[in-house]
Amino acid sequence: MVADQLAARPLSVANWIGGREVPAASGETFEKTSPHDGGPVAEVARSGAGDIDAAVRAARGAAAAWADTTPVARGEALLKVALALEASASRMAAIVALETGKSVKEATGETKGAVQLGKFFAGEGMRLSGRTFPSGMAGKYTMTVRSPLGVAALIIAANTPIANIAWKVFPALICGNACVVKAAEETPATALEFARIAAEAGLPAGVLNVVQGIGAEAGQALVDHGDVDVISFTGSTAVGRKIAASAGPRMVRISLELGGKNPLVVCDDADLDKAVEWTVLSAFSNAGQRCAAASHIIVAEQVYDAFRDKLLARTASLKVGNTDADDFGPVINVRQLGFILAQIDAAKARGARVAAGGIRLAGERHAKGSYLAPTVIEDVPAGDPLNGCELFGPVAVLSKASDFRDALRQANDRDYGLTAAIHTRSVDRATEFAHKVRAGTVNVNLGTYGSEPHFPFGGFGASGNGSREPGLEALDVYSELKTLSYFVEPGRL
Ligand code: NAD
Repeated sequence: MVADQLAARPLSVANWIGGREVPAASGETFEKTSPHDGGPVAEVARSGAGDIDAAVRAARGAAAAWADTTPVARGEALLKVALALEASASRMAAIVALETGKSVKEATGETKGAVQLGKFFAGEGMRLSGRTFPSGMAGKYTMTVRSPLGVAALIIAANTPIANIAWKVFPALICGNACVVKAAEETPATALEFARIAAEAGLPAGVLNVVQGIGAEAGQALVDHGDVDVISFTGSTAVGRKIAASAGPRMVRISLELGGKNPLVVCDDADLDKAVEWTVLSAFSNAGQRCAAASHIIVAEQVYDAFRDKLLARTASLKVGNTDADDFGPVINVRQLGFILAQIDAAKARGARVAAGGIRLAGERHAKGSYLAPTVIEDVPAGDPLNGCELFGPVAVLSKASDFRDALRQANDRDYGLTAAIHTRSVDRATEFAHKVRAGTVNVNLGTYGSEPHFPFGGFGASGNGSREPGLEALDVYSELKTLSYFVEPGRL
């Protein structure tokens, strides 16, 4: 299937507005290239403010009728979309693999996650419930009900593209909103394919629109559009700040799912082999392009050398490439690769030591792609900028902790607060860490890994604005709560 897609490339990828493919009004396109071999993958519509306006108008035009359907009917419609995605999973996974360079196996797992998320929110159509309250006033009966907001602008990152789309589209739709998805530049065909599948499954035209384009152009135009009611964004903290600045004065609701620099603590009583396995998965899977990636491994000094040796041995055994036999693939583009390498070089110049990797892979399988060797860095000076900088690549920084307090201090010494993990056999340490670490997701004897459709996800500090998606908490992002009271005069009948 991947071979078919490669044969067909470059694909022509348009917007999806009002139930059909639409090129950018200017006719302009941009080129999307392959992270695996650098070759052309797609010519993509380069949308401007006019295209964004057309998409928002299409959504606005469809929003009222969609909001008037019952949540149960919306759930049935979304179940059809989820099942259609499941039926198309191999094609979708091939597109995801083509655009991201990850293996088909990994892309298939991600697609299954998106289907599961769709099924979860489809079921929510029968549970979109509020609460009832007793009143201090006799004869007054009070409850909460959820109302749609209207038009949802959904902006996503490319790292797990089909999961990221599902994460936002399904909860936004079940709450009765119409959507405009801004596809990531690097994964345009995934978004268009999702829109096509949804339309074929019967989703009414205009309820789901997809716009392609450059972030600073199409993305910013969507954020600045005056007729959007909620903006949900998954991406970098820098762009999240711009969105907050634009949306704040307009009082537009925003949900910001931003970056992370996630600590994984290994205590002196940890099972070191298991800690190494979880570290490798957490730091390197998806080429480290996970907001939840464990990029700072804090190890008790008593076991530091033993852990380090095991980690380096395991790191040396990792296979990098785009096949199902590989552990992880390329980073998303050469620009991102260059950014990571520059950060590593700068840290080296400040005294850090590269214990593994730190180089672009140059062999026959890798030379044309944006492949970085799995990288382990040690001896990063205290207070070094690398400790607070998200690299979004297969790079783990190791540091020593003198004791549990020091490990906790180091874990909290950052602006981000998305996920954290601790490896210990001590319930006391696990409990104290779980309660004191500043992270929205805390795992004990696991990786910084393992979000599921029904789990709320989000972070402290620079990792977000306090919202949580998906899980039932996502309903709070995409609906407005009304408190509704009735008065029936006591004793009147
Ligand atoms: P990015 O912020 O550069 O881009 C994300 C999206 O925003 C893209 O679709 C892009 O086109 C768009 N965009 C860029 N500039 C914009 C602007 N001015 N206005 C509106 N939209 C704009 O991020 P990226 O490099 O593509 O993704 C990696 C980042 O995403 C990392 O920081 C990672 O941690 C984060 N991320 C967070 C989560 C989470 O759930 N917290 C999940 C995945 C990725």
